[in-house]
Amino acid sequence: MSTPADVRAATPVPGSGHPPLLDVRGVRKVYDGRGRSVEALRDLTFGVAVGELVCIVGPSGAGKTTLLRCISGLLEPTSGEVVLQGEQVTGPPRGMAVVFQEYGRSLFPWMTVRQNVELPLKEKKVPRAERRRLVEEALEAVGLADVHTAHPWQLSGGMQQRVAIARALAYEPQVLLMDEPFAAVDAQTRADLEDLVRALWKRLGVTVLFVTHDIDEAVYLGQRVLVLSASPTVVLEDVVIDLPAERDQLTIRSLPRFAELRGHVYRLVQQAKRGGGAAASGPPGRAPEAM
Ligand code: ADP
Repeated sequence: MSTPADVRAATPVPGSGHPPLLDVRGVRKVYDGRGRSVEALRDLTFGVAVGELVCIVGPSGAGKTTLLRCISGLLEPTSGEVVLQGEQVTGPPRGMAVVFQEYGRSLFPWMTVRQNVELPLKEKKVPRAERRRLVEEALEAVGLADVHTAHPWQLSGGMQQRVAIARALAYEPQVLLMDEPFAAVDAQTRADLEDLVRALWKRLGVTVLFVTHDIDEAVYLGQRVLVLSASPTVVLEDVVIDLPAERDQLTIRSLPRFAELRGHVYRLVQQAKRGGGAAASGPPGRAPEAM
């Protein structure tokens, strides 16, 4: 997959005439407990088209984790719905894989790298020969072809997170959800893993929804950045990231357009932290249909 994905970025889903692969419709979530209720999500509506890479940013407590849980079918919205390929999500859908921040806890330490990557395929009842091929391809794709007999604890944090990404890829998901996946690794590893995600996304054509609180990361990675307000949460703005399709850390991060977009998203997040609900002024790449 090369340019078509970035062409789609300029044509947000609501105006594209195609139904989105993932459709979040008026999702509201209220947590009830001990006589106190918390309205974590007020009204979230957005779509993600096939092959898009969309980032979600928002202040801490904005409901990013709640949203991902609703999308992955682990939590039932109080109202509204999540639709994947035309079907309402009511439990963990087969077509979805999630990469969490805490790679240390998401891999089984007693299993080798190969066994960790293979496990969901066994549960999916993929035949043995096919499993072998998928595991090898996924480990190759993340640059870990030579460590498949190692155990997770023998690897660095960045390598462990690569294993978690390989496990998600081997599953051949339609949608890959990533929940702050690089928050716990050092800056250089983080930059490498960001480039790995972009490379895999372009090569495999997988649809990615990437949650982060890091504004630079969201702008560097995404074709669109959804900025969430503070709780109770709505989408403050759907920002189209019109940076070149070919991205490398040094070139892209020194572009004036990168600085402009980052500044814009930063102002929105600041506004969200202050509890603002309206869109910030001077939108450089807004997708008005998606608001
Ligand atoms: P984020 O991931 O953006 O930091 P969360 O989704 O974790 O935000 O939380 C959003 C809001 O919902 C917060 O006010 C949080 O305290 C509240 N919340 C999250 N989980 C629960 C829960 N299980 N019960 C009650 N309130 C919760």
